[in-house]
Amino acid sequence: MIAVEQALQIVLENTPTLPKENVAFQEATGRLLAEDVVSDIDLPPFSRSAVDGFALRVVDLRSLPAPLRIVGLVPAGSFPSFRVNRGEAAQVMTGAPIPQGADAVQMVENTRVAGDRVEVLASVPAGQNIAQRGEEVKAGEIVLWKGARLDAASVAVAATVGKIMLPVGRRPRVAVIATGDELVDPAAKPEPGKIRNSNGFSLTAQARSSGAEVRYLGVALDTEESLRELIGEGLEADALLLSGGVSVGRLDLVEKVLAGLGVTTLFDAVALKPGKPLMVGLSSHGGLVFGLPGNPVSTMVTFELFVRPALAKMEGCRQPQRPVLSATLKDALSNRGPRRAFLPGWIEPEAGGLVAYPIATRGSGDIVAFAKANSLLIVPEETVRLAAGQTVGVYPLDRFLFREDPWHAARPS
Ligand code: AMP
Ligand code: MG
Repeated sequence: MIAVEQALQIVLENTPTLPKENVAFQEATGRLLAEDVVSDIDLPPFSRSAVDGFALRVVDLRSLPAPLRIVGLVPAGSFPSFRVNRGEAAQVMTGAPIPQGADAVQMVENTRVAGDRVEVLASVPAGQNIAQRGEEVKAGEIVLWKGARLDAASVAVAATVGKIMLPVGRRPRVAVIATGDELVDPAAKPEPGKIRNSNGFSLTAQARSSGAEVRYLGVALDTEESLRELIGEGLEADALLLSGGVSVGRLDLVEKVLAGLGVTTLFDAVALKPGKPLMVGLSSHGGLVFGLPGNPVSTMVTFELFVRPALAKMEGCRQPQRPVLSATLKDALSNRGPRRAFLPGWIEPEAGGLVAYPIATRGSGDIVAFAKANSLLIVPEETVRLAAGQTVGVYPLDRFLFREDPWHAARPS
């Protein structure tokens, strides 16, 4: 049995970075940028007005109100060919270029227009309300950094600098197989002894939320032939995810079948709760194989801790782990034994920081309790009990960014 950190280190050391490809910038959200992007122009590209108002010369405002002659109008999108001289002003719109000679803009609210004259009612310092050419970025400067996870703001930057194709890491191709004779399709009512397959779908959803392209290959029975058939297909992927069949039961055949198909085991026991029987291997062509434990919560937790970072690294992510936050426990947590525990929790901001509520759970089979969680609360190895008021490490789940808490009543009090 190896420690969680060591297991993750082994996974990441054996995770290749996939080749890059180009995508249209509009399609790039969620992707990982594979090269720095530089600006082809100064930003702003010309000195422009930040407000609707009058471009003028500050020296003309020594006595107020200052009457100035309006010598032109500059709408956004035009470029003025005239100058603003002593005693003159130009009416400018937000985003319009500043005419030669002007050194500040007074906003329209501080002026009074009468015919072809404007009375300026208040003075302004030089440069007021003018965004100078290149003050944000100079042509040739980096505006998006290699390794960035692209979001809406990145797309705006790409548009601004005219970078219409973006080099990004290829999305990992992931294959998913559920195993077990007891599994029936979610559309069916389970006969006695059977249960509905959920892991096939939780893994597919998690892999998609990691940015992978997923092929769900279905359910393998607990026979070597059935496993071999689906695994053979799944091994073509960058990462093959299997659920179930990795414990020490007589019908836990996954590791054996994988070995027969040329997969080398990197480890098959982690000091983790839930998720101890996690098996990770490497296929003959260098693809990663994850034999995830079958209990639905174990499957999802081991995905979060090991598969999600590996998929991120494949795309080129250099910091593939989510940050571990800390929160103040509202209720005690206990953990028996030498394994690190990851327990379902609800965290939320309170004055002074994050607080964490443990969610009552019946354990690694209790997917309904897990589905209430927005985080995993971490109890270290060999720590028997964390009391209310103590600090707990927190792994944020996707739901962490949302505040809905309709199961509030289900919290232990
Ligand atoms: P296993 O690791 O195959 O022994 O499975 C451990 C537990 O997880 C058993 O109770 C299984 O019935 C359950 N399980 C395995 N696969 C799935 C699945 N795809 N969906 C829901 N539960 C599963
Ligand atoms: Mg099984």
